[in-house]
Amino acid sequence: MTTATERKWFEAVASLETCSLCGVYGIQVAHSNQDRGMGQKSAPWMTAALCTPEHYEIDNGKNLSRDERRALMDRAIVITHDRLIRAGKLRLA
Ligand SMILES: [Zn+2]
Repeated sequence: MTTATERKWFEAVASLETCSLCGVYGIQVAHSNQDRGMGQKSAPWMTAALCTPEHYEIDNGKNLSRDERRALMDRAIVITHDRLIRAGKLRLA
């Protein structure tokens, strides 16, 4: 089930349109896999705007270690949040 919060985050991240890591146009909204396991879905704000190749590399890639893939995803999420704040799409209540 998709909650209103999840939908808002999805739409905000999707609106960034370019990859938070490489800047290429055309992105997917990528979820962090970190809190998953035991059927847990990661929080909707643990998402990043990623191009398809980097999304694949972070989720399934064989070129990076698990720690490297996690670090890259964390960086992508931080950059995505920074971009959302600078764009005025993420404000404190
Ligand atoms: Zn990219």
